[in-house]
Amino acid sequence: MGRTADVVIVGGGVTGLCTALALKERGVDRIEVLERHFTGSGQSGRAAGVIRGCVGHAAVAATQLEGQEFYGTFAEKFGVPVEVHRTGYLLVARPHERAHVEATVSVAERAGCRLGLVSAEEAAEIQPGLDADPSGVHVFEPEGIYVDPAPATQAIRLAATAAGVLIREGCEVKEVAVEGGRVTGVVSDDGKVSAENVLVATSVWGTPQLARLGIKVPVRPHIAQMAFFHVPAGSGQRLQTTLFDSRAGLYMRPEGVAQMFVGRKEKDFHDPDEPAIDPDDYKQTAEYSAVRQMHAGLSVTLPSMRDGFVHRTYACTYDVTPDEMPILEQADGIDGLFFALGFSGGGFSAAPWVGRRMADCIISGEKPREITPFKLERFETGETIDWSNTPD
Ligand SMILES: Cc1cc2nc3c(=O)[nH]c(=O)nc-3n(C[C@H](O)[C@H](O)[C@H](O)COP(=O)(O)OP(=O)(O)OC[C@H]3O[C@@H](n4cnc5c(N)ncnc54)[C@H](O)[C@@H]3O)c2cc1C
Repeated sequence: MGRTADVVIVGGGVTGLCTALALKERGVDRIEVLERHFTGSGQSGRAAGVIRGCVGHAAVAATQLEGQEFYGTFAEKFGVPVEVHRTGYLLVARPHERAHVEATVSVAERAGCRLGLVSAEEAAEIQPGLDADPSGVHVFEPEGIYVDPAPATQAIRLAATAAGVLIREGCEVKEVAVEGGRVTGVVSDDGKVSAENVLVATSVWGTPQLARLGIKVPVRPHIAQMAFFHVPAGSGQRLQTTLFDSRAGLYMRPEGVAQMFVGRKEKDFHDPDEPAIDPDDYKQTAEYSAVRQMHAGLSVTLPSMRDGFVHRTYACTYDVTPDEMPILEQADGIDGLFFALGFSGGGFSAAPWVGRRMADCIISGEKPREITPFKLERFETGETIDWSNTPD
């Protein structure tokens, strides 16, 4: 005989874990998170962990601000330490991007984010060594943070476990069981779990899983390539803030004292004709050409990094949607089935907000108004989300 739960969550990344924690906080009794590998083994353990409210869409900014509050108060609230790096977030944009950036600042400000335009001199004080163009546009958000995603994910797992969530690692869900238009549970390689509610939170793996249930989501794997650059030996150069530079198309944050974690603005690299990628079988390091491009861009932002060097690289799949925003849904025609995926490289920061709204949605069976911008049908109706803080 199998087990029974009130809610089964498929996928033990931040989305699944935050939802489990939020369900517990709302009094749900039996919650099982089934993870085929170990918690955080997907994207969640490999993110940059940057959380900044400087985005040009109010609902998206709200997700980020709640993320800052969640991670910033986590240790105090749950008694599990999470190291929060309060570096602030500096946006460096080109002169012709001014109108877009100013609009972003006013949207983010109205959403409650504390940020503002700063001069080139001020930007260079925030980040010594920055090549700050006096005619460029600079924005600083002092409360921008980053967390190391792997320990932060494990902290959420510990808090959820302490609250009574059952987490099964090494447990792959083979099938979501549906009878007469309603979810009845899941079949895993560790037996059946009966449940009236199932959340699919499996990022890049979710597309075929949902397709088997007749649900088509425009979420596809895209390989993001990252590199850790080391400052030139003896230079004393330090990255002191989290930074996005549109001139270079790069974002970066400190990694320890002498390194920086660098990634590309992936939107520039989206190609709907990209060959199909198997998320379980792709090259785990960055291509040489990508690393060279990052190094050249980094040298635009911080000219002293011309003499810096690559410490190590990696690659990981994003679960991208056409507007790079997630799909947060309850299934049409299958009662008790919910899904949250398509985070497109931004789901770490949004997970606390998403977890709370998905928990409300599962408990009430109604979609909270706040998640409607993230509905699946937006790709059909043209209500896609425009959120980037610099023009595409
Ligand atoms: C290089 C990189 C940098 C990033 N930087 C940032 C950042 O700075 N800020 C930010 O907000 N976000 C960032 N992200 C994005 C963020 O990491 C993701 O959006 C987020 O972690 C997604 O969490 P998730 O729980 O939805 O998915 P995942 O963490 O991928 O978890 C899904 C889980 O489902 C499991 N699974 C799949 N199929 C099954 C099955 N059948 N049965 C059981 N389990 C299954 C997988 O093993 C996996 O653990 C970055 C991502 C990458 C790759």
